[in-house]
Amino acid sequence: MPKPTGLTWLAPICVFAQAFGVFAGDGACSEEGALPGASHGPHEGMPMWDLSCMVWRIGKILDFEAQVRWIAEAGFEAISFHASPGKAGVWVGLEPAHLDTEERARVRELLSRFSVCEIHAPFDCELAAETPAPVLEKLEEVVQFAADVGADVVTVHADAPDAAKDAAPQSWNNALDRLNDFAGRAGVRIGIEFMTGFEWLVRPRREWIGATLDVGHMYLRDGAGYRPYGTIGDLVRFLGDSLLHVHVHDYDGNVDHIEVGTGRVDFDGFLRGLADIGYGGALCLEANPDRVTPDGIRRSADYLRQRARGLGLR
Ligand SMILES: [Zn+2]
Repeated sequence: MPKPTGLTWLAPICVFAQAFGVFAGDGACSEEGALPGASHGPHEGMPMWDLSCMVWRIGKILDFEAQVRWIAEAGFEAISFHASPGKAGVWVGLEPAHLDTEERARVRELLSRFSVCEIHAPFDCELAAETPAPVLEKLEEVVQFAADVGADVVTVHADAPDAAKDAAPQSWNNALDRLNDFAGRAGVRIGIEFMTGFEWLVRPRREWIGATLDVGHMYLRDGAGYRPYGTIGDLVRFLGDSLLHVHVHDYDGNVDHIEVGTGRVDFDGFLRGLADIGYGGALCLEANPDRVTPDGIRRSADYLRQRARGLGLR
């Protein structure tokens, strides 16, 4: 039986709290405000999303397989990693060009325990109004690699065309059509990580291409990413079924990729948006190892699970 929501009395407290800086961030007391442990009828009993952790570096652990083990032991159901070698001594990923068929099969086996696997394309493979052909070829190699190791989604950064324009340049549409065809044949979805320009996902909608929403980045430049849509939850609702994957970290006004719950991201509003659209993907924690300790990664996961329970998710 759904529990009563009855949160209308919260609004004056929010005004008070914002005026006197009671809460840490501007998002902590949003118009969609909620109390710890409060439940909301519409989402009661919905399953909690699987949590993923980005292989990067975890504390002092740099070895790829050791990180995978740590992530599984810490209770994450899903996993994410970069399709690039990383930076010596700083962070690691897997470079597709270094892995033959046999080694790809071994990676597939290593990752098979996870419910969802995301691969982050190299940062220098960015989609743009005019994406160079070698970048598209490299992205296709990454998508093929994802298929070979059994991954579900490839995240690609984009410097999107101006969304105020009526139509994207033909070269942008051609690039997305090409990637959509390739991804469909590989059976791997592509999540574009936009800073702005989410409108291009629906003009037109492509079956194998959607969004990877980086929630922390939406708060950069005073919330420039989400404010055109209203709240962070409104942005999620705008994306609807084009939302394929999410990156989760916090932002305190100075630095991003910090421990979840220590910055200004309105996680209640964000999670409520996900619940409203019936989001079926995973939540990937992208914690910068220079800013978040292994304990901080665990606390971030606990925080997300606790907030989701507060919305009535199980
Ligand atoms: Zn991200």
